[in-house]
Amino acid sequence: MEKKRYERPIIQKLNSGMLNKFGSATEFAPITEIDGYPVKRIVEKYGSPVFVFSERQIREKYSEVVKAFTTRYPKVKFGWSYKTNYLNAICNIFHQEGSWAEVVSGFEYEKAMYNGVPGNKIIFNGPDKSYEDLQKAIDNNSLIHIDHLDEFYMLSELAENSDKKPRVAIRVNMDTGVYPMWDRFGFNFETGQAWDAINKIMVSGKFNMVGLHCHIGTFMMAPSAYGVAASKLASLFLRIKNKFGHILEYIDLGGGLPSPNNLKGAYLPGTDIVPPVEDFAETIASGLLNSDINPNELPLLIMESGRLLIDEAGYLIGSVIANKRLSTGRRATILDFGVNSLFTSFWYNHKITPAQEMSDYKEDMQLFGPLCMNIDVVRESVILPPLKKGDMVVAQNVGAYNVTQWMQFITMRPNVVLIDMQGEAHLIRKAEKLETLNQMELTPDYLKSFSL
Ligand SMILES: *Cc1c(COP(=O)(O)O)cnc(C)c1O
Repeated sequence: MEKKRYERPIIQKLNSGMLNKFGSATEFAPITEIDGYPVKRIVEKYGSPVFVFSERQIREKYSEVVKAFTTRYPKVKFGWSYKTNYLNAICNIFHQEGSWAEVVSGFEYEKAMYNGVPGNKIIFNGPDKSYEDLQKAIDNNSLIHIDHLDEFYMLSELAENSDKKPRVAIRVNMDTGVYPMWDRFGFNFETGQAWDAINKIMVSGKFNMVGLHCHIGTFMMAPSAYGVAASKLASLFLRIKNKFGHILEYIDLGGGLPSPNNLKGAYLPGTDIVPPVEDFAETIASGLLNSDINPNELPLLIMESGRLLIDEAGYLIGSVIANKRLSTGRRATILDFGVNSLFTSFWYNHKITPAQEMSDYKEDMQLFGPLCMNIDVVRESVILPPLKKGDMVVAQNVGAYNVTQWMQFITMRPNVVLIDMQGEAHLIRKAEKLETLNQMELTPDYLKSFSL
């Protein structure tokens, strides 16, 4: 039997963290493999830190979520939210599953085209669309979701000189009972802005108005908010039909459904408080089905879920660089990933689990990243067995927003690996190197030399 490692006894100061009556237990069963692939082997092959995605988990989650909607509403489509995770391999898994693309910039639009998504299956959201972006979207019959009147005027100009009628929807913002309200995107429902924009579009005769869109927030914990949104969009749908005799093709309820992550400041872990997807599907379906929309004219329901679909399928493996005691006597463990790679640690308490067998002793500690910056904190307070230099940890629920918001700051971005359905590993994004950066930089000749 292997001799247990000696831990020097210390007098420990108690810190008040986010404890609650259920305790702040962390599971200590180590994560030694992801989809059967040993964590240790991933690190040997691809280095540390390294992002790992499970294709099996992506596909299973997608099926589960789609089923929750298609069993409640007759016509449903999902549009993959590119900004949540736009690695081509990940996008293509969603496209293989039948997802359209939902993009919020010209760059994301081009990425969707590059991946081979047909133009008429690209949903173009966001406040920043240039003339060139809009022209491309018109030429490709994409679904243009107008965010503000200035965009409407640009589109009007382009439509004037085009033989194609742009396929448009408007983004609607509204009071759904969840505050603060996201009223900076789109046209407001309550003040009549949305109805005003609809009239401008319909009366101009230059557009093919095909839908209505909203995206009421992100990490929304209240299914009821979606019920309100669905009813309000249904009322606009009916008003358009009554006034113009025009029947819209779709209603798009956006994304914002939560993943079971632990929001900072939440009393209980995400797995305990996040409502099941069925609750969201139920209230959205009821909002539409129980409206006065004629059953034969029910619009397609589009969903643009991002984090709900990908968060759990993503892992970040890292290693311990060092341990130290802070001036308070508190244990500090420094990891080789920080807020640069795990950007979402700014708002989540990510679950961090050792990747090897550990002692039973546990201690409250703070987890820092490798950056020479005070803000680089992965967990302010977490109870874990003491980790020694070289030990590995696995951060969980990191699939959403990290491999898009990560920073190349002080260190380069690491490798990203996909474990396929057969348990084989594929490198899907190479770690950046100095050359990656230097490729982008231009040094004027007169700055190329110096003597010190
Ligand atoms: C970001 C975004 C989404 C995805 O949001 P999640 O909260 O990740 O589900 C969907 N639609 C629009 C318009 C967005 O901006």
